[in-house]
Parts: sequence; C-alpha cells; structure tokens
Amino acid sequence: MSVWENVIGQKQAVHTLRQATRPGGAMAHAWLLTGPPGSGRSVAAAAFAATLVCETREGCGHCNACRTALAGTHPDVSLVRTDKLSLSKDEVRSLIQVAQRSPGTADWRVIVMEDADRMTEGTFNVLLKSIEEPPPHTVWVLCAPSPQDLAQTIRSRCRVVSLVTPPVEAVADLLVRRDGVEPSAAERAARAAQGHIGLARRYALHPQAWQRREAIVRIPFSVHTAGDAVLRAAQLVDDASLEAGETCDELDAREREDFLRSAGVEGGAIPPALRGQLKTLEDDQKKRRTRTVRDVIDRNLIDLYSVYRDISVTLFGGDVQLVNTQLADEVRSAAERESARSVVAKMEAVQTARERIAGNVPVLLALEALLARNAVS
Ligand SMILES: [Zn+2]
Repeated sequence: MSVWENVIGQKQAVHTLRQATRPGGAMAHAWLLTGPPGSGRSVAAAAFAATLVCETREGCGHCNACRTALAGTHPDVSLVRTDKLSLSKDEVRSLIQVAQRSPGTADWRVIVMEDADRMTEGTFNVLLKSIEEPPPHTVWVLCAPSPQDLAQTIRSRCRVVSLVTPPVEAVADLLVRRDGVEPSAAERAARAAQGHIGLARRYALHPQAWQRREAIVRIPFSVHTAGDAVLRAAQLVDDASLEAGETCDELDAREREDFLRSAGVEGGAIPPALRGQLKTLEDDQKKRRTRTVRDVIDRNLIDLYSVYRDISVTLFGGDVQLVNTQLADEVRSAAERESARSVVAKMEAVQTARERIAGNVPVLLALEALLARNAVS
C-alpha cells in the first residue's frame, strides 16, 4: 500500500508533492504544508518524507525505508512534534545541526516540523539561516495551519502547498478502510466532524466523545431560560476542564518527572536552585491547560454553530446535507418555529462568543451570555 493512500481528499497537493520527488521534478529545499486543523498535514508530510527516502522513490509503502520513515525510525528522517506551547531555540539549533549532516543511506535528509507555527520570533531567525543556505541534500518540511502563522522571512523561502478540508465521503471512507468502522457510523462521524479527520476518528471509536458532542448539539432545543443557560454554561466549562485534564495530566506529570530526573533530583526536597526552573515549567503547563480548555470550548461552539446552520439551511429549503443528521426531526421543527432573521442572529451570536473567548473574555461569562441570548422560549 502506497504511503499516499491515507492522504485523503488532497488531489492537488499530492500531485505537487509527488511530482517534485520524481526525476527532473521541481524539488525545493524548504516546503511549507498548510491546511486547516484535522486536514492531514502531518500525514501528508510523513508521506512526502517517506517518498523522498523510498528505495523505489515512489513511496511504495513496502520497502524498509518507507516503513521506517513512517514509524519515525529512519536515520535520515527527523520528525519533530511538540506538546509544548513553543519550540525552543535550543531545540531548533540541534535540528539545524542534524540538517547539516549528509544523509546516511537515502538521497535526502528530511526534517519534518509538525508545529512550525509554534516558534517565537527569535527562533524563526535561528531557523532562517539554515533555510537560506541549505546543505545540498537537506529538505525541510514545515507544517502550519496557514502561511500567515510563519514569519514572512521564512515563508518566502518555502514552497507552499495548501491542503483543503477533506470531503465527508473521503473521511468516512478512510474510517471504514483504516479503522474498520461500520459505514453508516463512519459517515455520521465524518459529517459531525466537518472534515476534521482526527475528530471523526474519535467520534467513531470513542462513544464518550460522541456523547459529549450530542450534549452540545442538543443545547438549541433544551436551554429555555436564563437559569438553564447559567447551568449549562457552567457544565460546559466543567466538561472542558475534564477533557483538558485527559490530555494534560499525564503530559504534565511526565514533563515534571523528566525535568527532575535530568536535574538529578530523585524524590525528596527540590533544591532552591531548581525552584525557579520548576516554576517556569509549571507556569508553561498552566498556560497550556488554559489554552486546551479554550480549544475544547471553541470546538463545542463550532458544533453548536453547526446546528443553527442546519436549521437555517432547512429554513431556506436548500437541498443541502445536514451536519447533524441524527437531529433531523428537531431541526425541522425548529425551522418551522424560527424566522430566518432569528436563526442568523443566533449564528452570529455563536461567532461573537468565539471571538470574545479568543480575545480573552472569561469563558464562563461569554458562554452564559451566548446561551441566554440564544435560549428558546
Ligand atoms: Zn518505499
């Protein structure tokens, strides 16, 4: 099976990347893969890296080079992903050292940076030098949501390839083929995830994640009073904190352990000299948790928006598929009750809440205001 098999719904991008790897192709030393969250940036970057080192140069998926490249163990392919909020200068410096070395077995040395947008201004400058004067056999593959997430100086030196949101059918097909999901469940999950591959997989494989989403998308039919709104808003924030905990708790503990071990502290009191560094680590972890909660809430609001969108397309009578097919009855009766103007105002209110939260308005306040505003009488 070709390494490109799981890069779905990206005909144009795949064509460009594969073309470049062929003899006489337009190869570049620095690439920037952009695309919305969940569109498969890192999968595409890994497939590209594997193809560059593949023994057949096609990304056959069978040869040792392809398999080790995808598994992250090929000596000439470095995959950099980070759980931290930003990549440090030291991390980027050590990558640049790797980039200087000639490939050991393959034609190229490939460095894939999955979260290139997580670099600070200073770190960009460190990287810039290596990208400006790349060693002849080195290829950088940077991934970011959009070109604007990278400093202009960097992105002007990269060849940009843009991924698009993959179509629902392609995502559903992938879930069936790769994860063994039953077709109708795959379709439902893909539709609900609106083209986000990782989310679709989670909805299809983890009933709890689907249940959480169900609770969100039923809000437009179940919040009737300001009192309901206050209760639901608090519950949303609690649930988001729980969900963020699932991601952050283990990560925090591991980072703390690694830090103490590398500092030579095995249990017992922390020497005063290390307390400052530990405090910095804890502050970073706290920021990451806050951001994770906000990310979860933002996704909740995107889901909520999708219900108003379904009501609005039903109201306008277009022949458009619903995102929330499981709510078809509720959506239809809401469309009979509501005016177009009122539904559009509710959609706008969701977008306003997202903007306010992104602008650091306390999450709970923004949610209370939104749910009270959109309550159905
Ligand atoms: Zn191969």
